Amino acid sequence: TNSLLEVKNLKQYFPIKGGVFGRTINHVKAVDDISFSIKEGETVSIVGESGCGKSTTGRAILRLDEPFAGEVLFEGIDLLGLSKKEMRNKRQDLQIIFQDPYASLNPRQTVSQILEEAMAIQDIVPKKERRKKIEELLQTVGIGGHQMDRYPHQFSGGQRQRVGIARALSVNPKLIICDEAVSALDVSIQAQVLNLLKDLQRKFQLTYLFISHDLGVVRHISDRIIVMYLGKIVEIADKKSLFENPQHPYTYALLSAIPSTNIEEKRERIILKGDVPSPINPPPGCRFHTRCPYAFDRCRTEEPKLHRIDGGQQAACHLVEDGRIQLSELPS
Ligand code: SF4
Ligand code: MG
Repeated sequence: TNSLLEVKNLKQYFPIKGGVFGRTINHVKAVDDISFSIKEGETVSIVGESGCGKSTTGRAILRLDEPFAGEVLFEGIDLLGLSKKEMRNKRQDLQIIFQDPYASLNPRQTVSQILEEAMAIQDIVPKKERRKKIEELLQTVGIGGHQMDRYPHQFSGGQRQRVGIARALSVNPKLIICDEAVSALDVSIQAQVLNLLKDLQRKFQLTYLFISHDLGVVRHISDRIIVMYLGKIVEIADKKSLFENPQHPYTYALLSAIPSTNIEEKRERIILKGDVPSPINPPPGCRFHTRCPYAFDRCRTEEPKLHRIDGGQQAACHLVEDGRIQLSELPS
């Protein structure tokens, strides 16, 4: 199958103003030249610690913040070349769900008003059919249609997220970006919402870009996983390869920190030293070198490129490029 979404050399730099004249004196390089694609019907996740650029990537794709540079091809059309009006129309195909649905649901509107409004903006469901469609949608996401005249505060967190999902679905999207969509929920509710997302994917042929800091969550839902660190992609792999045979030292460290993975059985937890450096002046060479237990001279000067291993797995690390050895064999 073809790519539904292709992100090419995407950069998101936010200017820092300063001095007497308020000129741009530097940039926060929140996303720095990343490329990846998502096939139709696929679930691709982006994982990484807060500040790695994963949410920024999601927002840049939708142009919620205008990207600094790059291309975002959706069905072959560069979204960044569309006028504001054309982009608004495209929003029908690309929806986003956030961590806190409460913040994006108008507290003065009932659920049916919220969904009705979303449908009216895109004008795809005729007015007199909307109430019926709303009832169906709410049933589809596991909220009885009889609850459609209730207000957001009358629902639990999990139910509110279901309302957020229903709102995204109300315009028949092709791609849904889920930005920490289950992060605020209790673990048992998380599982229910993840299962719902999977069911909806089958039912409506949806494609997901799933953004999360939580590898445990990502493991439930992903076909492929992208690991980001400080604005860069450090590894891309299918789920099995990533969990069983991670290639990048950062991925390895993330995995070693979650319970009940094979990696943890094989090896002690790797605790990374220090904090994530500032994205204003990221470290030269490999951005991870200030924290990497395996860093050597070359890492401090030369930036590693994403190197293709096999089965589509790619990692940006000089050691991987040099065709070495399993991380578990290296001294720590
Ligand atoms: Fe570590 Fe060097 Fe690989 Fe970067 S390139 S992850 S510093 S070994
Ligand atoms: Mg975020």
